[in-house]
Amino acid sequence: MAEKTIFQRIIEREIPSTFVFEDELCYAFRDIRAQAPTHVLIVPKKPIPRLAEASGIDQSLLGHLLLTAARIARDLKLERGYRVVINNGADGGETVPHLHIHLLGGRPLGWPPG
Ligand code: AMP
Repeated sequence: MAEKTIFQRIIEREIPSTFVFEDELCYAFRDIRAQAPTHVLIVPKKPIPRLAEASGIDQSLLGHLLLTAARIARDLKLERGYRVVINNGADGGETVPHLHIHLLGGRPLGWPPG
């Protein structure tokens, strides 16, 4: 069996995290190296390595993750706006091979990103 990712270990409470939201499909927690006043990671419990490896069977899960990001943004009162980001692969800046959505807000975010 493949080794568990750090996010799998966080989901299973083997490693502590700052809880934001959980349901049967995903777990959301604060990024340990926050890049904005609000920086939340939304992680599917299914360990899909990255977006490029998601498939048609994951269609509703992917929609659920995006709607969860919007729900958390509402709950955290990011009325002025926010950004959702998925880093995919080396050039995309991915460092943890377990699909996750970054939700960033609480300050104006520059464009283009670095
Ligand atoms: P990415 O670079 O898109 O793969 O994002 C991985 C993110 O996970 C980075 O923003 C890290 O700061 C974050 N991260 C890594 N380890 C932890 C942890 N133990 N708790 C919370 N966030 C983490």
